[in-house]
Amino acid sequence: MDTVSLTGKDLAAAINADSKARAAAFAVAPRLALIVANADPASAWYVNSLRKAAERLGIACDTVDLGADASVETLRAELAARSADPAVDAIMLQTPLPAGVTLDDVSSSIAAPKDVDGVSPLSLGLLATGLPGFVPATAEAVIELLKHHEIPLVGKHVAVVGRSNIVGKPLAQLLLAADATVTVCHSRTPDLAAVTATAEIVVAAAGRAGLITGKHIAESATVIDVGTNESADGGIVGDVDADSVRGRAAALSPVPGGVGPVTTALLMRHVVDAAGNR
Ligand code: NAD
Repeated sequence: MDTVSLTGKDLAAAINADSKARAAAFAVAPRLALIVANADPASAWYVNSLRKAAERLGIACDTVDLGADASVETLRAELAARSADPAVDAIMLQTPLPAGVTLDDVSSSIAAPKDVDGVSPLSLGLLATGLPGFVPATAEAVIELLKHHEIPLVGKHVAVVGRSNIVGKPLAQLLLAADATVTVCHSRTPDLAAVTATAEIVVAAAGRAGLITGKHIAESATVIDVGTNESADGGIVGDVDADSVRGRAAALSPVPGGVGPVTTALLMRHVVDAAGNR
């Protein structure tokens, strides 16, 4: 079987074109505050790519580096100050956080109308109850990528591999809202392949290179690879062993070039949406 590549580049370009036009309509450009508290090179690379993406769309972007030893109190105070600052439309807290600090310790200090990556308990609660609010961009990107490639979700069995608060759990909520039947697998699922091989759609979001192989996939399944793992040569690889899945799956999203560009485009769309909340 030929495995179709579910690329995200065209979709991202269309979302970006729309965001750029909408951003230009504001008298004062939409403004994103990117809060960083780590010395991680992969994070620095990502922050730089977000800055460039924002600039291309006419979105102002302030990077606030609090240092890798910032305390919970410092982070909370910064997030609260930016939440109260009328010049800031949107706030994104970059991970990883300093040792000993979790997202749960600080995310409630981000005001929901500015929480463009949907990480606060309020945003996640709104999503779980089906009320309007910002949704984590990566989870939303999976849904948008499937829609763009006209892969139906109603009544389909989707296995999500990963249960983090920023990817697996919100994705499960979005899939339920789209009328899919959802199974969430995680690190304590005893026989992963036995579950995923019964699904029509498998979404891999575990952060483990090569975790999903041909034996994890039903013939003709659709596979979405959310994983971004550093490869030995310094590049990026997903959670799916593409060589072993290709020829068996009907469709597979590439890494890079699948979920990633759509995630960035949706984040920027959320920033423009947040500016609309002024
Ligand atoms: P995380 O480490 O917070 O969570 C990983 C989840 O995977 C956990 O729930 C864990 O139970 C599960 N897991 C780990 N090993 C497993 C195994 N062997 N079998 C089954 N489940 C297992 O990670 P995260 O923040 O949710 O991110 C997941 C992946 O998605 C990472 O590779 C991350 O880099 C990537 N990511 C990509 C984008 C993007 O835009 N493409 C955005 C965010 C995250």
